[in-house]
Amino acid sequence: MAEYRFEHKEPLTQRVVLALRVNTKQLKEQLWLGTEYEVEAALRGLDKPLYLSQTRPLGAFWCEFGKTSADGWTEAVWALCGALSARRAEREAQEQKAAELLSQLTVGNSAALYAAIQIWEMYLRCCRGRDKHKAETALRDHAQLLILPFGEYTPEMVNWKRGQPVTPVWNHREDAKLEIWYPHGRVPFECAVVSGSLRPTLIYYRQRILDAGMVMRTCSQCGRVFFAPDARSNLCSERCRKASKKAAKKSFDSKSREEEYEQAYKREYMFWYNRIKKLEKNHASQEQIQRAKTALRQFRKEVVGRKKQIQNGDLSTTQFINWMIGQEPIIQEICDE
Ligand SMILES: [Zn+2]
Repeated sequence: MAEYRFEHKEPLTQRVVLALRVNTKQLKEQLWLGTEYEVEAALRGLDKPLYLSQTRPLGAFWCEFGKTSADGWTEAVWALCGALSARRAEREAQEQKAAELLSQLTVGNSAALYAAIQIWEMYLRCCRGRDKHKAETALRDHAQLLILPFGEYTPEMVNWKRGQPVTPVWNHREDAKLEIWYPHGRVPFECAVVSGSLRPTLIYYRQRILDAGMVMRTCSQCGRVFFAPDARSNLCSERCRKASKKAAKKSFDSKSREEEYEQAYKREYMFWYNRIKKLEKNHASQEQIQRAKTALRQFRKEVVGRKKQIQNGDLSTTQFINWMIGQEPIIQEICDE
């Protein structure tokens, strides 16, 4: 991997492209970001220093794009426009400011990294122009095209997640150019390749997923957005399926354990309760009945503490049951008087 540096240098002689493969069969996406020559070579399986080369779960690019901040870009572009007509010291200060802003925006976001590199390369090309005013306009227009789609796709995401039809964001002609590199030679798959606005890539991406009849879902285990063949799928991966199964089993186990000691307690409680009812039925003295009731209250109080011990794992259900049986003589003695 080659890190792209946002610094004053010669512009690249080759254009920078982002190639995207949408693999709906294997639920994967692949991204290659670099100069055209190096991306071509990487597609053929050669090891080339790209700015980015990733294989990710299907949908990651879409979601990442939806999350790309719309803030910060304009400020960075203004700083670069200012740098174009500034003297050396001021130019360096403006470049530094833009570089810091762009570096922050691109952390862990391939769409943002792509846009930032394109903007910087355009700036470097504009630095060579004699007509500073013309250069500024060219840089601003180019940057605008790249930045515009950021922050526009949230409603579309929301609708798609709800399973409602996706209404595409309207775009201009200059914002609708996309190359398709068909399978060729040693590259057996199709790629969408972009060197301008990312919007057409996104439209292409969405269309490939819709063509495959897939729907956008949120994983009930990890919360990640993913694409599934039908609306019944709630789990994004094998890992989440396993984790979900395990969680369900754990909750079932703890429920049945709970039921066991709770049932034992209920049986025991009825034993005490029936003894007291019998006293009342046989018109025992109030004093005797009160003593029995007080003993039951004490018993119940101690049960609460012991149940907590079970929940903490300090007491087993068997120990608890044995303890309760051991308490039976208390009520029996009161009743037998
Ligand atoms: Zn998941």
